[in-house]
Amino acid sequence: MHGCIVCGRLHNLLVVTSSAGKMIDCTVMDSSCHMLFSNDHPLIVCNKHREGEIKTALDRHHTGPELAQDLQDD
Ligand SMILES: [Zn+2]
Repeated sequence: MHGCIVCGRLHNLLVVTSSAGKMIDCTVMDSSCHMLFSNDHPLIVCNKHREGEIKTALDRHHTGPELAQDLQDD
C-alpha cells in the first residue's frame, strides 16, 4: 500500500521487484489514481489532483516538510 503524495489517501499498488530488490515494474490496482516516478521510487497520486498540486507535493517530497509552507499557493 502506498499513499497519495498529495492527500495521503492509500491506494493498492502491485510492485514487481528483481531478486536484488530493484523495482522492475509496478501497476496501480485502483483506477482512481496513477503513478509517477521519482528515481526508482514509485509515487502515487489520485487522478483528481491538478498538475499544480502534484508539483507542489513533489517539491515537498524532495525538499522536506520544513520548506513546504513556502510552496503552498492556496
Ligand atoms: Zn490524493
